[in-house]
Amino acid sequence: MIFSACFRFKDLANKATSPTILVARSLSQFRVKRPPTICSSYAHPNGIPLGFPCRRIATFCDKTVTAVTSLDTSPSTAEILAWSRESHREGNVRTRKPATSGVLWRIGVQAQATIHIRNGGRLVDRRILLIGAGHSHIEVIRRWSEEKIPGVSLTVVDPSATPVYSGMVPGYIAGQYQQRDLEIDLSGLCSRSGANFIRDAVVATDSAKSSVRCADGDEIDYDVASIDIGSAVADTDLPGVIEHALPSRPIGAFLRHIDALANAGTATADRPLLVVGAGAGGVEVALCLDARLRASNRDLSPSRVQIVTANRSLLEGGTPSAQRAIERQARARGIIVHRGRKVQTVYADRVAFEDGEAIPCAGVAWVTGPAAIPVTAGFDLPKDDRGFIQVDKTFRVRGVPNLFAVGDCASLQGMKKAGVYAVRAGTVIDANLRAFVEGTQLRAYTPQSDFLSLLNLGNGEAVGTKWGVSWRGKSMMRLKDRIDRAFMDKYR
Ligand SMILES: Cc1cc2nc3c(=O)[nH]c(=O)nc-3n(C[C@H](O)[C@H](O)[C@H](O)COP(=O)(O)OP(=O)(O)OC[C@H]3O[C@@H](n4cnc5c(N)ncnc54)[C@H](O)[C@@H]3O)c2cc1C
Repeated sequence: MIFSACFRFKDLANKATSPTILVARSLSQFRVKRPPTICSSYAHPNGIPLGFPCRRIATFCDKTVTAVTSLDTSPSTAEILAWSRESHREGNVRTRKPATSGVLWRIGVQAQATIHIRNGGRLVDRRILLIGAGHSHIEVIRRWSEEKIPGVSLTVVDPSATPVYSGMVPGYIAGQYQQRDLEIDLSGLCSRSGANFIRDAVVATDSAKSSVRCADGDEIDYDVASIDIGSAVADTDLPGVIEHALPSRPIGAFLRHIDALANAGTATADRPLLVVGAGAGGVEVALCLDARLRASNRDLSPSRVQIVTANRSLLEGGTPSAQRAIERQARARGIIVHRGRKVQTVYADRVAFEDGEAIPCAGVAWVTGPAAIPVTAGFDLPKDDRGFIQVDKTFRVRGVPNLFAVGDCASLQGMKKAGVYAVRAGTVIDANLRAFVEGTQLRAYTPQSDFLSLLNLGNGEAVGTKWGVSWRGKSMMRLKDRIDRAFMDKYR
């Protein structure tokens, strides 16, 4: 066994033609007497490229337990957590004991290739890549901490280190939650799960090469990957929207800027904050903004929030009982609804409609429903006429056997663009990524036909709807709060 491991290292070193990242798992069974010479591009027998060229090399060897690495440390310092008895520091490479005893290694920003030397001295390398840490993928990451697949690495790429749970955003607007209550500490979650986290955005896919390109130019190869990058907001290409309105997506940016919008202090009943969009997200944002701007629940002054919708009613297409409850709530608070109005242009101080009229405003929140994220234009994948990635019932991208897509970015009959659907899909995508690497059968996903919808009214009450029946009250808000907090606790 020992010889076998040594032989492999030598073998790798001998094949060196250009520098590469090599991370060996440091198990005490292996004793490598010397660090390998800097290793290089190495092709797996089945042709999967394992290396990529790097600019600066650092090497590290723990003589007792042996972790062997050569890695790119630029532009940012990469971090290797190796199972060593002592802490070592050499150049830009830092090693220390892992926080959790179950985690043997983890590599940060620049991790591109991982080679596991396993007990039999056999090289095993299968790489799962998660593109985006949306509501479905965070469940895959959490489950990885409970059950890893030997010889398989899990890497997560997301531009945000703290993805936001949208279900609690209206509550944040109303002042019911702090920002930290809504944020998932992604690098902490990955670190606890033994997954690699790369903070970057994927901007292109090359499905033939099983590779993606990130915004900083790096390429990441995978054996199987899944995309869960959510959605953007519709119609942000209308004149003035990007310049003068606050789109509800990306949700992290919405969260960062909504305070400025709500606290501007310039909104009046005649020059209100306008919420454009009257789906579930739009009405929650409007009602919660209204609650925040009122001094108290007893404040009966005219609302400083108004809603603009191209439809005739709030929650158009929703359950009639929920529509009635929300319409009543808007009426009771004096929230004016501009119905059947299509925005043409957003200006700094007003919104102009297609019919030539305009209304003055102090600010605009743009909550017009989901659209495909523009970056998916660079994905060489089949898409529907709205730009969402076409998948089959197992979430496999049509015509691309080793690529999956899930959540809002995926186009699947019956799957709505809502967090509750993405959350439920998490267990299926987890099972299917595992089935793919283990060569077992994929599971089909059946979208739920009904679900409990809970809309936060911002005043301590919520409207709950299930089986076509709606209830309004504080008990509904307590239930929503319990469900949302329990969801967040799973990922802490
Ligand atoms: C204000 C508001 C309130 C809402 N409230 C509810 C609610 O109460 N209940 C409900 O069911 N739904 C709600 N929704 C809808 C819900 O937010 C979405 O349906 C849900 O977030 C979709 O989840 P997802 O997994 O598809 O992606 P998301 O949860 O949106 O996550 C996408 C992730 O991908 C990352 N990403 C984006 N681009 C890239 C890239 N190029 N490369 C790598 N990573 C990338 C992002 O940083 C993010 O972490 C609400 C939406 C809004 C706007």
